[in-house]
Amino acid sequence: MTITEAVIRDLAGFTSERAPVTSCYLDVDGRRYIRAQDLDPHLDDLLRRGRRRMTDTNGHDRAALASVESDLRRISDFVRGGIDRSSTRGLAMFSCSVEGFWQVVELAVPVPNVIVVNATPHIRVLESVVDQYLRFAVLLVDKQRARIFVFEQGQLIDKQEHFDALPRHDDDGGQMDRDHLAGHTNAVAAHHLRWAAQAAFAVYQEQAFDHLILGTPDTLGREMEKELHPWLRERIAARLSIPVAARDVEIVEAALEVEAGVERAREAALVERLRQAVGAGTGAAVGLADVLAALVARRVETLLVSEGYEAPGWRCRGCRYVGLRGRGCPVCTTEMDQVDDVVEEAVEDALNQSCRLAICRGNADLDVLGRIGAVLRF
Ligand SMILES: [Zn+2]
Repeated sequence: MTITEAVIRDLAGFTSERAPVTSCYLDVDGRRYIRAQDLDPHLDDLLRRGRRRMTDTNGHDRAALASVESDLRRISDFVRGGIDRSSTRGLAMFSCSVEGFWQVVELAVPVPNVIVVNATPHIRVLESVVDQYLRFAVLLVDKQRARIFVFEQGQLIDKQEHFDALPRHDDDGGQMDRDHLAGHTNAVAAHHLRWAAQAAFAVYQEQAFDHLILGTPDTLGREMEKELHPWLRERIAARLSIPVAARDVEIVEAALEVEAGVERAREAALVERLRQAVGAGTGAAVGLADVLAALVARRVETLLVSEGYEAPGWRCRGCRYVGLRGRGCPVCTTEMDQVDDVVEEAVEDALNQSCRLAICRGNADLDVLGRIGAVLRF
C-alpha cells in the first residue's frame, strides 16, 4: 500500500479498548543496507525498544501485553520474511493483534527507526513524509515526440505521450523545394515544442508538481526552455540528455537521482540556517545535551540529525524528560530508565511536538556541529 492522506486518516482513526497499537518504522534503504541481514541489528534494536515500551505501559492486562508481544513477533516475521526493496526504502507497520489489525505502508523514502506502543497508531512520521514529499515531472522532447511523466514517492502517477508526424518528401525536388521543405519542417518542429510546453503546463495545472526535469537533445534544450511557461521554467531541477524513447525504468532512476540531489540541497540549506543561528548566538541549539534540553522545553522548530547518529541516554517514565545523565530525573526526581539510543527518543519527541525533521545524509557541516542541532521557535 502506498501512502495517501486517506490511508493516514484511516490509521489515525483506529483505536482499541483491549490493547495498544504497536507502530514501527524501519529504514530498509537498499542503497545502505545491501544485504537483507544488514537490517537485522536495527530491527533487533527496535524490537528490544518495543519490548521495553510494553513493560513501561502501565495499566494493561495480560491480554493487552500478549497482544503487543504478538505485534512485535509479527513485525519481526514480516521483515525477516523478505521485502521487495527495489522501490521500498522505508517501512511503516501498524499492528494491534488482539483486534486482528495489521497494516504495512511501503515508502519510497527512508524513515527514521521508530517504535511506539500507544493507544492509537503513531502517524507523525507518515505525515512528515507526506509533507516533505515532492512531486516531480519529467518532460522528454525531441523533434517529433513529447513524453511527460509525473512521479510521487518514486511512483509514476501520470504519463502522456504525443507524436508529431513530420512531413515526408517522397519526390527528390530541386534546392528551392528542399529549402521550403526544411523551413516547413522547422515550423512543424517549433509548433511541436510549443505543443509540448502547453501539454506540460496542462499537466502542471492538474498535478501541481514541484520540480521539472527536462530531457532534450542538446540542440533543442534552449528552444524548449523558451517555450515553457515561466512557472515551469523556474521549476527546472535538472536538464538531462535522456532520449525520448528511454525505458520507463531509466526515467524513474533518473528522476529519483535528481530528487535525491534536491533533497540533499534542501538539507544543506537547513544546516546553513542552523549555522547562521549558531553564529548569531541565538535561536539554535547544537550538540546532544543542548538539543535534548531544547526538546524538553518544547522550543524546537526544526530538528536536524546526521544519519546514523546514535548515543545512549536516559528517559524519565514519570514526566518523559530525556537527558544524558541518570539516574534521578532532574525535573520530577523519579528514577529514570537507561535507553540505548537517546537520539531516536529525541526524534520521536520532535515528531510528537510537530517539529520539522531533517535526517541529513553526509552533511559535514552538521557533523562538525555535533551531529545534531535544532533551530528554535523562540
Ligand atoms: Zn521526570
